[in-house]
Amino acid sequence: MINKQKVAGVLALSLAALTGPLLAQQKDYPIQPVAFTSVHVNDNFWQPKMEVNATVTIPYVLAQCKANGRIDNFLRAAKKLDGDKLSEFPFDDTDVYKAIEGASYSMQNKKNPELDKSIDSLISIIGAAQEPDGYLYTFRTVNAKKPHEWIGDKRWVNEEILSHELYNAGHLYEAAVAHYQATGKHTLLNIAIKNADLLVKTFGPGKIEEYPGHQIVEIGLSKMYRVTGNKQYLDLAKFFLDVRGPKGDAYNQADKKVIDQHEAEGHAVRAAYMYTGMADIAALTGDTKYLTAIDDIWSDVVTKKLYITGGIGATGAGEAFGDAYQLPNMSAYAETCAAIGNVYWNNRMFLLHGDSKYIDVLERTLYNGLLSGVSLSGNRFFYPNPLASMFQHQRSAWISCACCISNMTRFLPSLPGYVYAKNKNDLYINLFMSNSSNIKLTEGNVNIVQQTDYPWKGKVDITVNPDKTGEFTLRIRIPGWAKQQPVPGDLYAFMDKRSFPLTLMINGQAKSFETEKGYAVLKRTWKKGDKVSLLLPMETEKVLANQQVKDDRGRFAFERGPIVYCLEGPDNKDSLVQNILINKNAIADANYHADLLNGVDVISTEGKSAKRQLKTDSILQTDQMVKAIPYYAWANRGPSEMTVWIPYEASAVRPKPAPTIASTSKVSASLKNVRMFAAIKDQYEPADSKDTNYPYLHWWPAKNTNEFVQYDFDAEHTVSESKVYWYDDGPWGGCRIPVSYKILYKKDGQWVPVKNTTPYTVSKDSFNVVTFEPVATTALRMEIQLPVDNSTGIHEWAVK
Ligand SMILES: [Zn+2]
Repeated sequence: MINKQKVAGVLALSLAALTGPLLAQQKDYPIQPVAFTSVHVNDNFWQPKMEVNATVTIPYVLAQCKANGRIDNFLRAAKKLDGDKLSEFPFDDTDVYKAIEGASYSMQNKKNPELDKSIDSLISIIGAAQEPDGYLYTFRTVNAKKPHEWIGDKRWVNEEILSHELYNAGHLYEAAVAHYQATGKHTLLNIAIKNADLLVKTFGPGKIEEYPGHQIVEIGLSKMYRVTGNKQYLDLAKFFLDVRGPKGDAYNQADKKVIDQHEAEGHAVRAAYMYTGMADIAALTGDTKYLTAIDDIWSDVVTKKLYITGGIGATGAGEAFGDAYQLPNMSAYAETCAAIGNVYWNNRMFLLHGDSKYIDVLERTLYNGLLSGVSLSGNRFFYPNPLASMFQHQRSAWISCACCISNMTRFLPSLPGYVYAKNKNDLYINLFMSNSSNIKLTEGNVNIVQQTDYPWKGKVDITVNPDKTGEFTLRIRIPGWAKQQPVPGDLYAFMDKRSFPLTLMINGQAKSFETEKGYAVLKRTWKKGDKVSLLLPMETEKVLANQQVKDDRGRFAFERGPIVYCLEGPDNKDSLVQNILINKNAIADANYHADLLNGVDVISTEGKSAKRQLKTDSILQTDQMVKAIPYYAWANRGPSEMTVWIPYEASAVRPKPAPTIASTSKVSASLKNVRMFAAIKDQYEPADSKDTNYPYLHWWPAKNTNEFVQYDFDAEHTVSESKVYWYDDGPWGGCRIPVSYKILYKKDGQWVPVKNTTPYTVSKDSFNVVTFEPVATTALRMEIQLPVDNSTGIHEWAVK
C-alpha cells in the first residue's frame, strides 16, 4: 500500500540530509579510502590507460549504447520516441548507468565540458523515463505488447530470478553517487533518491520480503546512505542481505543465509558483489556477524579458487566458481566483471582489517586479470579472460550482454581511489604509481608526491609535504611478491627460494623499519620535502601452482613484480607456444621494449619446441629462444596461441601436430567464426566429449540444420578412413552428438558420397571411425545433421 505522505516525508528527509552537514557520528570502515577526487595520477603506466579510457572507451561505449538501443529504451519509456521496441536484456539500462559513472570519474580526472553536457542530457532522458513514484526500469515502463520473458506481469514478481529490477537500481545508485561527487550536481542523485525511497517503501519486514536476484543494490544503497545520511537506505541494504536464503539456489548464493556461507559458490560476479556488500554493511552498522562468513569465504577463494592472474569464477557453466583447485586454463571463465568485483571486495576487506594481504590480491587482479579485459586501443573487450588459447579467443567490439564492457569503462577512471587510505594519523600507501595527492589527516593536510616507473622498476620515491611539520605515520605496503609470497596461502609459490634486500631510505639514509600487517611503519615528525625511497626487488620469478591444481602440473608461470607473463604466438617461432618447453632452471632476462605493446618488459630465455612425427610416437625437440610478454597485453595483435602456464616437464607440452593429411589441409565449414577451424586438426584428443579445455568447433546456437566441414588437401591423396570425435556438453550446454553424418569426396568438382565398408556410428567420448573404399581426391567433406533441439560440435577430425 502506498502512503503518499510517508513518501513525501522520506524524500524531504533525504534531501535535507544531503544539503545539510553529513552525520558526523556515522559508523563506517575503521580505515577510510582517500577519494579519487583527491588523487591525481600522472604516471607512465596508468595515466595513458585512463587517457585512452577517457578519449576512446567512454565515447565508444556511449555510442554503442545508442547504436544498440539502450538510449532508445529510455526515450521510449519517457514517451519521447514512438514504438515499443526494446533492446535485448532487461539489465541493459545498467550499461548507460555504468558509462555515466565512468564519465563522472573521468571528468574529475580531467575536465571535459563537452562530455559533461552530453551526460547532463542523458540524465534528463533518464529522469523523464522514471515513473512518478520513482520506479525506473525501461523494460516495464515501455509497455511492450510482448513483454520480455524475464519480467513478470507486475513489478518485482520475477526479481529473485531474472528481472534484474534491483540490479538496475544498484548501478543507478553507484552512478548517481559518482556523478554527484565528481560534479557536485544533484540531477542524477535526485533520480536515485526517488528510486531508493520507492524501494524503502516497497521492501522490508512486513512489506515485500524478497532478495535481489543479482546482487549490487546492497553496495549502491550503502553509497546512497553515505551521501544522504538516510539510514533507511542502510537498513534496506541490510534487509536485502538478511532475507537471502536458505530456500533459494547456490547459483545466486541464496541456498543458505548469508552469515552461514563459508565457501565461495555460484555465479562469481553476483558473489563478489554480495561479499562487497556484506563488508560495507558490517562496517556501516557495526554488525560483525557478516565478518566470519566473508573472512572464511576470502580464505576459500585465495587458497583454492583464484587464478594466478587474480581472476575468479573458473567455469562458464553458470559463470561460476568451480570446485577447490578447479582452475582450467583454456576454458577459464574469469569474467572481467568478476575481476572488478574481486578488486571491490578486497579493497573493502583491507578497509576492515588493515592488512596488506588484501591489497596483494587486489594488485594481482588489477595488473593482470582485470586489465586484460580491455585492448590497448580501448575499444575491444574480453568477457572471459582465459589463461591459454589456440586462436579461438579474441576481444569483441561489442557483446549483446555488455556488462564487462561498461564495467571496465567505469572501473578504470576510478583507479585513483585505490592508491591511498587513512585512519586518523595513519596514511596507507597501497598502490605504486606516480601521482600528486592531497590527504587530510587528523594532524592536518599532507600533500604526497609519488614518482616511480612501477611496475617495470621497483624504485618508488615518495615526497611528503605536510602543511605544517607534525607527527603522523606512513604505512607503506610491502607487496607479498617482494617477500617471496605471491599470494596469501599456498595456492601459488615461487619456484626458487631466494631472498632479495628490500631497502627503504628516508632523506637518503637507509632506515630499518618495523612491519605491521604487511606495512612498513614509519612514525615520525614529518616536515615539508621529506623524501622516502623504497626499493622493491623487481626480479623475474617462476611461479608454481599447488600440486592439487591438475591443469598447472609440470608447468610454471613467469612473474615480475605484480605482472604475470604469458607466451604469445607473435613473439615466438612459427607463432606457436603450446609446443614450448622451458627448463626449470633456465635463466631469464627482462628488457624494456618501448615500441612493443605501448611499452612493456619482455622476458627472454632459452627453451625447446616439441613436434610430433609421422610413423613414430617419439617427439622431436628443437632449441629455440622463447619470449614472454605481460599477460594483460596479449591478444592485441590478432588471434594467436597463448599460454600463461609454461611446461617444464615434457608430459605437459602439446607438441606441434605431425604433417598428416588433415593437418596440412585447408579447413572450411558452414561457419563464420574461422578462429574455430584449426581445432579439428590439432591432434589433441580430449578427455571426453564435454572437455572444454581444448579447442573445438561448434555450430551453436544453430539446431536442426545440415552443416558441413571440409578439408582441402595440399595435393591429391588416397584416403579410406575418417575418425571424428564429437563435442557434446550435455546435459547443461547446447551441443549434443549429431543425428547422423556422412563423408563425401570431391570428384570432377562434384561432391560424391564415399562407399563406406563399416557403419557410421555416432557416439560420445571416443573417436567414431568409419572406413570406406579408397578414393583418390583433393578434398573431403563431412555433412552433419544437427539434432532437432540442439547444436553439435567437433573436437577432432582425422583422415587417412
Ligand atoms: Zn561481465
